[in-house]
Amino acid sequence: FLPHLVASMVEVEESYIMIKPDGVQRGLVGEIISRFEKKGIKLKGLKLYQCPTELAQDNEHYKDLQSKSFFPNLIDYITSGPVVCMAWEGVGVVASARKLIGATNPLNAEPGTIRGDLAVQTGRNVVHGSDSPENGNREIALWFKEGEVVEWTPVQEPWLKE
Ligand code: GDP
Ligand code: MG
Repeated sequence: FLPHLVASMVEVEESYIMIKPDGVQRGLVGEIISRFEKKGIKLKGLKLYQCPTELAQDNEHYKDLQSKSFFPNLIDYITSGPVVCMAWEGVGVVASARKLIGATNPLNAEPGTIRGDLAVQTGRNVVHGSDSPENGNREIALWFKEGEVVEWTPVQEPWLKE
């Protein structure tokens, strides 16, 4: 069978993308979803959700940042209103989503990226994206319940992949 097909299957990844409370409050949900949708990656999960404090702290979503001075502010920020949780799938989606999102500090984010175009401060940078395929899987399992992530085949697939 076809080696190039096997190679592309290996690189299929999942990324957990989340529109943070500032993105929801500022009415940027459609704009942000649209940028990923237009790229051609596959949406597998989507919901509006009020993040419980325990999920944001307590060794869960932001476990790597617990020792940082800004951690309490980060928890307040992320739990301050509803977020939009998304699971996206595609070849190399983790890195490509982070390129679409741009640098952590919006002042360093390139124009054309979500943070570069839509935000001004690290503490209000409108969107989260997983930083590795492992964290993509881990975060999707953390934020979505059984049955909320949907396997499906977009009709546009032959127009995206040769
Ligand atoms: P990301 O992967 O680009 O989102 O960046 P990190 O994983 O390093 O940090 C996670 C999130 O913590 C960032 O998106 C910011 O919302 C927040 N954060 C990171 N560094 C700072 C900081 O120096 N100050 C504040 N207030 N928030 C920060
Ligand atoms: Mg990160």
